[in-house]
Amino acid sequence: MEIRKGIGVSPGVVIATAVVLDAEDLMVPRRHVDAAQAVVEVGRLSDAITRATLDLTKLRDEVSAAHGKEIGGIFDVHLGLLRDKTLVNQIVAEVNTQQTTAEYAVSVVMRRYKTKFTHMSDRYMQERVKDMDDIEKRLLRALIGQKHQDLTHLDRPVVVIAHDLLPSQTAALDRSHVVGFATDVGGRTSHTAIVARAMGIPAVVGLGNVTAEASGGDTVIIDGTRGYVIVNPDADQLTEHREAGKKFVDFERRLQDIATQPAVTRDGYAVTLQANIEFPTDIAPALAHGASGIGLYRTEFLYLSSPVEPTEADHYAAYAEALARLGSGKPLVIRTLDLGADKYTQEKAQNPERNPFLGDRSIRMCLHDIPMFKRQLRAIMRVSVLGDVRIMFPMICTLMELRQARMILNDVMEELDEEGVPFRRDIPIGMMVEVPSVAIMPDVFAKEVSFFSIGTNDLIQYTLAVDRTNERVAGLFCPGHPAVLKLVRDVIRAAARNGIGVSICGEMAGDPLYTLLLLGLGLPVFSMNGPDVPEVKKIIRSTTIEHARTVARRVMSFDSERQVMHFLREETRKILPEAF
Ligand code: PEP
Ligand code: MG
Repeated sequence: MEIRKGIGVSPGVVIATAVVLDAEDLMVPRRHVDAAQAVVEVGRLSDAITRATLDLTKLRDEVSAAHGKEIGGIFDVHLGLLRDKTLVNQIVAEVNTQQTTAEYAVSVVMRRYKTKFTHMSDRYMQERVKDMDDIEKRLLRALIGQKHQDLTHLDRPVVVIAHDLLPSQTAALDRSHVVGFATDVGGRTSHTAIVARAMGIPAVVGLGNVTAEASGGDTVIIDGTRGYVIVNPDADQLTEHREAGKKFVDFERRLQDIATQPAVTRDGYAVTLQANIEFPTDIAPALAHGASGIGLYRTEFLYLSSPVEPTEADHYAAYAEALARLGSGKPLVIRTLDLGADKYTQEKAQNPERNPFLGDRSIRMCLHDIPMFKRQLRAIMRVSVLGDVRIMFPMICTLMELRQARMILNDVMEELDEEGVPFRRDIPIGMMVEVPSVAIMPDVFAKEVSFFSIGTNDLIQYTLAVDRTNERVAGLFCPGHPAVLKLVRDVIRAAARNGIGVSICGEMAGDPLYTLLLLGLGLPVFSMNGPDVPEVKKIIRSTTIEHARTVARRVMSFDSERQVMHFLREETRKILPEAF
């Protein structure tokens, strides 16, 4: 069968049955019914609500058992809506007065509600439109009789095929049975790609229209190493890919042996390998892969996986759980909220931004909503007495932003002092370096923080003017571009000069192609998806710091990313022939 090329974003080969998440939009035409039929329609509505309530309750209990109450709670808001008498009565009234089908009445009333929510000034209430959408679709499915593809309790291995995977979808996924992802859109640093790598499952994104080609139940091959998908493969393709899949698993297994060994070069130069996480439950697998701490905790997932804005107590519970899972003596770098851009639903916003990546995202959003920011900062400070907690501000572009964020943190400390709440006064405060305005003049910022973490995902996007989530320009998104490398080198040097810590927590840190180079540039801390740790460690343990420095010197003399990548591939293969 035909091979569909995309962007391989998480390596490995898998063959399984497809589950297709279509970007469904259930169209409901207006249909007039007579008075007698209206009574029947109200009965259908009542049955649909009962069915939807039963399904949701089951779903909530299962998700809570598997992923904790926090994530299961997503469905409580939906259940609350179904029990809302005002809402239900309005739908019934619509059927009776307008004499329409139950489906049509549901659509009309839900649209009315959504418009109301959209115009509320509270951004969080605007976000609730998404819940109304979910409920509307669920009721319509129950009425129209469509079966909702439920991904929270799967009973066999499946590959998930979708237009795109929303953070809330991946949060509720039954991860134990999902063995691969394939999506129509996305790039190497899109959320689907990051989740796939963290889960250690093959994924291909940017496939164009794979959702139209595959149907639920089809057999699908996902080759995340070579970056393609085959729907309904023939016998030869199956044999070849089973073989390739086995080879990859063997390779991974051999790598796993070094998880417990230190990240030290052959001549004794040590570096630190940490992991990036989205949920506290990601910590155990990260440690099993050999990470020695958490270099990036993306706390916005607390918001993205919850139907209501997290309270200070929710933040505290999540961070305390993360520390408990991490164990003592290991650092937990908690990044403050990085909402907005791709981590926010623009379609649902009251005034969608024309350029969300250049808009009200991340630290800017926090500085515009100080009560929200403070809730998180209070929780971080309170939890700071429980372990090695560090705090990190994302997307800093100007010195003023950094100082403002620090001032708000100081206010929080004062408040806690007044309340007699203990916290660690000298908590290390760091910042992400992910926009060129900082990377170009890092010394200025280095004087005001205790560590930098280079976010190459955004740094590359802003330096090269390439949308990190757009598959059409994915070929231009290149960590090896000499301009990007120059910025990375300068930031590492500035950190060393100013005696502060520095790490990279963008995807580049876990890409084995760049390990020799980053080592040679003097990067002391790498933070990556857990499953990337063994291969990066293997490269570090197979080389010497002298060799890595020579490689870095050569690379920094090149003018083009092609030269850089070619040279790095050759050099890495010399020490690890099975790499890539
Ligand atoms: C980055 O930009 O490199 C980064 C690590 O942050 P995120 O991917 O969450 O934007
Ligand atoms: Mg970023």
